[in-house]
Amino acid sequence: MSGVYIFSDKNDIAAEIIGFAKSAGKDAILLVFDEQTAKVMGNSGADKIYLVNGESELVESYARSIAQLLREEGAELFAVGATPRGRDLAARVAVYLNCGMASDVSTLSCGDGQWLTQRIIYGGAVQQTEVLEGLAVVTIPGGKFEPVSGTGEMVNITLAADRRISLEETMPIGHQGADLSAAEKVVCVGMGLEKEEDMQLAKDLAAALGAEIGCTRGIAEERHWLPAERYIGISGAVIKPKLYISMGVSGQVQHVVGIRDSQVIVGIDINEKAPIFAAADYGIVGDMYEVVPLLIKALSE
Ligand SMILES: Cc1cc2nc3c(=O)[nH]c(=O)nc-3n(C[C@H](O)[C@H](O)[C@H](O)COP(=O)(O)OP(=O)(O)OC[C@H]3O[C@@H](n4cnc5c(N)ncnc54)[C@H](O)[C@@H]3O)c2cc1C
Repeated sequence: MSGVYIFSDKNDIAAEIIGFAKSAGKDAILLVFDEQTAKVMGNSGADKIYLVNGESELVESYARSIAQLLREEGAELFAVGATPRGRDLAARVAVYLNCGMASDVSTLSCGDGQWLTQRIIYGGAVQQTEVLEGLAVVTIPGGKFEPVSGTGEMVNITLAADRRISLEETMPIGHQGADLSAAEKVVCVGMGLEKEEDMQLAKDLAAALGAEIGCTRGIAEERHWLPAERYIGISGAVIKPKLYISMGVSGQVQHVVGIRDSQVIVGIDINEKAPIFAAADYGIVGDMYEVVPLLIKALSE
């Protein structure tokens, strides 16, 4: 069956990619690896759901078999959710197919045997457009397409796994505090903060707003005033709160990449030329040691 073959270990991304395939007028064929996911995704609009039976728990160990399936079925595209596991699988499948691949695409369209993709590179400074000829592999982050609904046919298939890869152990990692990526409001502290005791100012603002506290990389990695999981940006957390307020954050591109999906961005910085003001919906040029207590007072009133 030709069409767009889809895999994601995050069901919401899989549903969005199915939405893309349907909006492009293509058949959507979803690969799932357990019955529970097959059930959950039953009404996601996929024309066909392949429930893969195999010997391995590791999805990436099926890369060669998936490549073979795509060839045999005349697939037009293998679209994979851009999660760590998805990226790993996608790269392997592209190698076995010896085909073109684009990672983390933000837009995707098709025409005349080609796939037109766009993606953001250099930490968000540049948008790159690429054309992939023929059967291709792409990875797609969440939030790019609208999911649809509808039931399709469920088919059990058996694929051979690469037994050179085996799962030894899975260990949960303990996290301190809340998940920043799920926070509705975030107060972000930058290197403009003079002393560790001044973190109290950020904590008071966060308490007044009911917000989580995040920071720039230097606050976590150089000054160690907050744990590493609290820093936001290209190498830290990517957040999409309803409200993001920064205090003494210059707004370098590596940080802004992590906040660009926030609904409202407010920047407080003493330097009117700070790049945060280019990313912000509202900017307050001023000394945070004066501005933030006034904000807290206004919020408490
Ligand atoms: C490969 C790479 C990856 C990176 N990844 C990340 C990342 O994921 N996340 C990240 O955050 N950074 C990252 N960085 C670092 C990034 O480039 C910036 O250096 C960093 O974001 C700057 O942090 P900052 O805004 O807190 O500090 P600064 O750039 O030093 O800015 C401090 C700001 O505070 C203001 N200020 C000073 N005093 C006051 C005051 N009293 N009141 C108000 N404002 C005041 C200043 O005007 C200034 O704008 C990365 C860098 C590289 C090279």
